[in-house]
Amino acid sequence: MKAVKVKDELQDGPCTYLAGNSLGLMAKRSQTLVNEEMLTWATRGVEGHFDHPFGREWVTIADKTHPIFADLVGAKESEVACMGTLTANLHLLLNTFYKPTKDRFKILCEIKAFPSDQYAFASQVTAHGYSPSESIIEMAPREGEFTIREEDILDTIRKEGQSIALVLFSGVQYYTGQFFPIERITQAAQAQGCVCGWDLAHAVGNVPLSLHDWNVDFAVWCTYKYLNSGPGGIGGLFIHSKWDGQPIRHAGWWGHDQATRFAMPHQFKAIPGAQGFQQSNPSVLAVVSLLGSLEVFRDAGGMQPLRERSLKLTGYLEASLKQSPYWVPPEQAAQHSEIGFSIITPSDPSARGSQLSLVFLPLGGSVMPAVQEGLGHRGVIGDSRKPDVIRLAPSALYNNWDEIDLAVRNLDEVLSEVKESRI
Ligand SMILES: *Cc1c(COP(=O)(O)O)cnc(C)c1O
Repeated sequence: MKAVKVKDELQDGPCTYLAGNSLGLMAKRSQTLVNEEMLTWATRGVEGHFDHPFGREWVTIADKTHPIFADLVGAKESEVACMGTLTANLHLLLNTFYKPTKDRFKILCEIKAFPSDQYAFASQVTAHGYSPSESIIEMAPREGEFTIREEDILDTIRKEGQSIALVLFSGVQYYTGQFFPIERITQAAQAQGCVCGWDLAHAVGNVPLSLHDWNVDFAVWCTYKYLNSGPGGIGGLFIHSKWDGQPIRHAGWWGHDQATRFAMPHQFKAIPGAQGFQQSNPSVLAVVSLLGSLEVFRDAGGMQPLRERSLKLTGYLEASLKQSPYWVPPEQAAQHSEIGFSIITPSDPSARGSQLSLVFLPLGGSVMPAVQEGLGHRGVIGDSRKPDVIRLAPSALYNNWDEIDLAVRNLDEVLSEVKESRI
């Protein structure tokens, strides 16, 4: 038998983890629940679907997440479903809500949206016979600015709304960390007759949401970022109850009325609301890994107290970074020719979540990789995006003030080293 060698890096060591926006840390509870499911599978086999030693019959396992999902996104339980993955769910709901006509076929989104979203939009418009260059309007920041002004978004919707079928932004932008005013954009879009959907990958578990009251048409999210469900975790979606009863175009047996699902009827009878969109029986391991973390969110009191803590942590990170001798105001970033960094995330706390995006200077990708490496050596884990950005996101659930002090101190040291090495 070969001995399995555990690499040094796999040992638990002290580190400052500020990448919860990319992959959240594991809740101990998730590990417990996953272990319990393995045990149940090993000892009960198929019976686990209906007879479960821990009271989590697999046949209704996803339902355990729905009340907590509903609280986190501000929805009725019947408006959310735990299913699939983000991009697949996005296509599913685009197939449902993106119904282009000759006069109204455009999609309005932010520029440099997460690539998966860009690919989804382009393939959708193409499938309907339109060209992406004519059909996709990408809102950009003004010259010399890093984030998009609300007034510019609302203006575009007012001017071009009659040709727009769908407005779909991310709730919190993955690169800049900008938190868009979801309610006001939704309202403006609907006033022009557009459908308004949201990609909440970086918003769910990060900022408070009221999707039902904001009258959002639909939304999709993944759960492995702030919601800590684990790599590749199961996704979620929201469909406003005003859409209840519309035909389901991609029906599967898991969306069928639970009372008769196992009678294997010929005719599909949808569960009312978002859960009628479920297609397949979900991965139980993925669901309970998520559930363990969702229970932590629930026990912490939901998004209100977490947002309060997040505002303080993020504000403290920002204030500490601005004390750094290397900090440069964002309006000077483009001209700055020495080693330094700027923060491109909005400084208005209501226009951001937990993430601050640091852009390393001079621009052009020559500094950031060295900084990321230097931080890594010191156990500070941020999340880099080429060419110039490192994102630092203190998670309200598990980061603290000491870690922020440590991260900022280490950043200064690393920048000094980089500067030295280039003189
Ligand atoms: C993380 C993220 C994704 C990832 O998509 P998956 O289908 O979960 O792989 C998509 N869109 C946005 C905006 C994201 O932030």
